[in-house]
Amino acid sequence: MTKIPVVQQILSANDAIADENRAALDAAGALGVNVMASPGAGKTSLILATAARLPAGLRLAVIEGDVAGRIDADAMAAAGIPVVQINTGGGCHLDAPMVRSELPPDGVDMLMIENVGNLICPAGFALGTHVKLVVASTPEGHDKPYKYPGMFAAADVVTLNKADVAAVFDFDFDAFQRGVRMVNPAAPIFVLSCRTGEGVNAWVDWLTAQHAVMPRPPKHP
Ligand code: MG
Ligand code: ZN
Repeated sequence: MTKIPVVQQILSANDAIADENRAALDAAGALGVNVMASPGAGKTSLILATAARLPAGLRLAVIEGDVAGRIDADAMAAAGIPVVQINTGGGCHLDAPMVRSELPPDGVDMLMIENVGNLICPAGFALGTHVKLVVASTPEGHDKPYKYPGMFAAADVVTLNKADVAAVFDFDFDAFQRGVRMVNPAAPIFVLSCRTGEGVNAWVDWLTAQHAVMPRPPKHP
């Protein structure tokens, strides 16, 4: 007997709730972004850098997913960003049911969900977001797309953070890009640094454009 059917059942149950999440986001007119990365790549820094550059009037809220604690949520709150903390109690990824109870977001145009730091299973659990973002960073090395192809294959968009220190880590941009393209022919790749701000505006422009084209909620008189 194989355990594979059990895994499939869990995933299809997750997908059904992810569909509900998507419907709730669509109804609220909120673009959902699943922010995935290894620990320390700069997910929180990218969310903060993004928040600082979003067009005026585009309201952002954040869900922080962590095994424990609320350090990142406190950073969001300190920046004036509405935030909800989800602690997984040891779980290594967010799933759709964890996010379900926090939806629909109230009066926001964009919901960024910072997943648990992990380049493996977050890619396998849809949350119902419109955009799956993978944040890579130069200190991790240019080999990450080759070692974690599932994560990079799942991405709708990739940001490569810490570009300002690439030389210190002998980071090979071409090798990184080839690795992403091996599993993902289309996802845009934005090279940036949250520390210096270089490249961040181009990413924010792309993200803002995704909000502009998402399904509009019905207008109530
Ligand atoms: Mg973080
Ligand atoms: Zn996991």
